[in-house]
Amino acid sequence: MIKCENKCGKLKSCQHHTCDVICHPRECEPCDELIKQKCYSHESEREVLCSVETGGTQVFSCGEPCGKLLSCGHHRCPKSCHNGPCLDCLLLPQNCKTCACGKTNMDSQQRTSCLDPLPTCEKSCEKFLSCGPIDNHHQCSIKCHNGPCPPCTKESILQCRCGQSKKSASCIEVIQYDPIKNPFCCERRCNKKKLCGKHR
Ligand SMILES: [Zn+2]
Ligand SMILES: [Zn+2]
Ligand SMILES: [Zn+2]
Ligand SMILES: [Zn+2]
Ligand SMILES: [Zn+2]
Ligand SMILES: [Zn+2]
Ligand SMILES: [Zn+2]
Ligand SMILES: [Zn+2]
Repeated sequence: MIKCENKCGKLKSCQHHTCDVICHPRECEPCDELIKQKCYSHESEREVLCSVETGGTQVFSCGEPCGKLLSCGHHRCPKSCHNGPCLDCLLLPQNCKTCACGKTNMDSQQRTSCLDPLPTCEKSCEKFLSCGPIDNHHQCSIKCHNGPCPPCTKESILQCRCGQSKKSASCIEVIQYDPIKNPFCCERRCNKKKLCGKHR
């Protein structure tokens, strides 16, 4: 093996940066450059380690709803942070040919704007709610309706973040908790430290 005093200069596995280690045997080290990326629809920024996938892109999807005002001027984009233009408002008369629950086709609608309420049918709404078991969310039980679904009347399991205690509570109570922002804590003292890492 002949070694020289020059930099290796080979393209690293990230395909974006060249190796600046002095002439070395074996494979080049993986790239350790940090790439700054901005999300598509918001001002969020992140830094990621350079790799084949991330090296050439300065954008990413932060996963939050896009939220830009749609061309209708009334509704905001519900898609998660995305590339390219937002879709047309799905509630515009030309884009919506069903009742409010979406189960019944209603071709001849009297609506003139996306703000007009949708026609309703005789079936039950059955939209999935945020409560209930993760793999079997509760469904809205009232008849086809406009607007957001009313609070669930069933019960869910509240699990303490210590994982050791559970209780059954009304879904209305359960949905006030959020595993990250507002976790449910049982009355008994958990041994887990609080988010700050200093207190119990
Ligand atoms: Zn790189
Ligand atoms: Zn190298
Ligand atoms: Zn975003
Ligand atoms: Zn609209
Ligand atoms: Zn959008
Ligand atoms: Zn319906
Ligand atoms: Zn529920
Ligand atoms: Zn509903």
